[in-house]
Amino acid sequence: MKQCIFCKIINKEIPGHILFENEHVLAFLDISQTTKGHTLVIPKNHVKDVFSMTEEDMAHVFSVVPKIANALKTTFNADGMNIVNNNKPVAGQTVFHYHVHLIPRYTFEDSFD
Ligand code: 5GP
Ligand code: ZN
Repeated sequence: MKQCIFCKIINKEIPGHILFENEHVLAFLDISQTTKGHTLVIPKNHVKDVFSMTEEDMAHVFSVVPKIANALKTTFNADGMNIVNNNKPVAGQTVFHYHVHLIPRYTFEDSFD
């Protein structure tokens, strides 16, 4: 989709700090790091939200989540992780290309340094 910011990252039209990529999904750092290592996992298909996701799209996204979660945990020495997904503006969605947030959590959360 031409105007979609995440499709532009997929197509390398704008920069993104990409952590993982395969045929179906992309994982990259959120531009606004809620905590150190805050990452988004998205399908390469432009799908707006959970209500339009196929089982196949969803399987592709979540099949890489454990691997990325472990990589973030190790790399950033995280103590835990929130995995969240917002759908529709009323639920806080601001980018209308499906994405899962991986938000590492730290015992001492002044760990932005
Ligand atoms: P939502 O609020 O839709 O669940 O999450 C959208 C997320 O996309 C936000 O956390 C926001 O910081 C992130 N975001 C918005 N624009 C960009 C961008 O251009 N690059 C990256 N890497 N993240 C973005
Ligand atoms: Zn898109």
